[in-house]
Amino acid sequence: MLATCKLCLRKRHLRNSHILPEFLYDDVYDSKHRTFEVHGEQPDKPIYLQKGIREYLLCDECEQRFSLLESYAAPIIREIPSLQLASDRVSFQTVTVDYTRFKLFQMSLLWRSSISSQDLFSKVDLGGSLEECLRQFLLEERPGNPHNFGCVMFMLPNTMHLKRMIWSPSIDYIDGRLCIRLITGSIIWFFAIIPFPEDHAIQKLFLPRDGTLRVLLSPWSEDDLLEEIVRTMRGLA
Ligand SMILES: [Zn+2]
Repeated sequence: MLATCKLCLRKRHLRNSHILPEFLYDDVYDSKHRTFEVHGEQPDKPIYLQKGIREYLLCDECEQRFSLLESYAAPIIREIPSLQLASDRVSFQTVTVDYTRFKLFQMSLLWRSSISSQDLFSKVDLGGSLEECLRQFLLEERPGNPHNFGCVMFMLPNTMHLKRMIWSPSIDYIDGRLCIRLITGSIIWFFAIIPFPEDHAIQKLFLPRDGTLRVLLSPWSEDDLLEEIVRTMRGLA
């Protein structure tokens, strides 16, 4: 399919790309490699998916650029569910990552969710200027400062049902600032879209430049999140 690549903006043959990388959903497929897509529009018609959610978004070169970030991030992310709780009881043992590659990987999840036109991602739309700013960070491979599209990562250990679903990202607000929450298996990615003041506590939770990745214990229980899903599916959210 010949069209404009969403990342480099050149006219190229586009690949039918996964919107989010498949390894984030290692646990969600059943023995026939099927999973459910859950979203509000058709609550009584769960859709079986066999190849994940795809869209023609990127040219070969840009797809390759993201695939390098994914190869770097995948083993780190697969290790997170086995991290021990730290002595503070609210975070897990830290992991040291490469700031540039891991931060770009985080930003790529947000950007891909925003540019996708699939129903599942319809709540995530950063709008023209923020989306363009994020595109340039990714194209130029600049991770920016920790607070630029900063991501706080949470983990919900021992989930029974959540890890079996691909779930729509949702919108949240902290102190009136727009945030986007993305759940993949037992990991929750919480992106701050609008920058917070320099002395705000959230700044300490973003990935710092020295690459010390601190994953927090999810403040949402699995029941809270499932209840939210049910509310969304009933169209009440
Ligand atoms: Zn491209």
